[in-house]
Amino acid sequence: MTTPARLLLLGGTTESAALARALAGRAGIELTSSLAGRTSQPAAVPGPVRVGGFGGAAGLIAHLRGEGIAGIIDAAHPFAAQISAHAVAAARATDLPLLRLERAPWRRQPGDRWVDVASIAEAATVAPHYGRRAFLTVGSGELASFGGQATMRYLVRLIERPTAPLPLADCKIVLGRGPFTAADEERLMRKHAIELVITKNSGGDATYAKIAAARTLGLPVVMVRRPPKPAVDHRVETVAAAVAWINERWPVPAPA
Ligand code: NAP
Repeated sequence: MTTPARLLLLGGTTESAALARALAGRAGIELTSSLAGRTSQPAAVPGPVRVGGFGGAAGLIAHLRGEGIAGIIDAAHPFAAQISAHAVAAARATDLPLLRLERAPWRRQPGDRWVDVASIAEAATVAPHYGRRAFLTVGSGELASFGGQATMRYLVRLIERPTAPLPLADCKIVLGRGPFTAADEERLMRKHAIELVITKNSGGDATYAKIAAARTLGLPVVMVRRPPKPAVDHRVETVAAAVAWINERWPVPAPA
């Protein structure tokens, strides 16, 4: 029997978990999911999981060599630009195949009142022009930029309760992990008399409901554009396309 090809999956997303599930038990490959370790209780994924940073691009290169990795699948979040840049540098240094699995961004629909901004900092600056009570869904690591807006009242959604006070003068926390429904999002926004939504253009279905709810309620959405990532030779937007790419490079072995 030949040794399975060892693949490293840079994860932390709905798609990375779905890909790990799609390839669970697949003969001919051994897929290890890598998580940054930002949440204490990440969504369960089948197969081997490693947690924590590698120590920059150099650490990732050492990991790839040390573990005998045959290919990298970067399914990190569209806003996780650093790990994707490290993946590109490490793939180049080790001459390994790299696939980026990146879901499509949300597109503006008729009725949407989006305010496109290039960064979280710009979102914080423009937000007061659109209302005082904002539903803020940019993740726990990005809140400091909003601390300077003294007139704003934020409803902050987080996956888990923060261990330290948030850097915001006037805020309320609501805990939740997608997928959310538009009806629930609408109810939440009405309950808190939300006047605007602030979000990253993450794309995907799991958190789209707030966009649909804002459209129904006629609310503006301050939409942060995705950060640029270095180009890759192989890029897909769906889990099915990622599975096809993997099957092409590492075919399922014929039964003995
Ligand atoms: P980032 O800015 O691109 O990465 C910062 C550092 O975290 C990296 O340099 C790396 O540390 C470590 N890291 C990131 N992803 C990793 C992974 N999958 N496995 C091992 N180490 C990883 O990333 P981020 O925006 O902080 O996001 C962290 C994780 O949360 C990612 O896995 C991402 O998919 C997930 N996530 C992010 C967002 C978002 O909005 N940013 C939303 C949902 C989920 P070293 O340099 O030490 O290797």
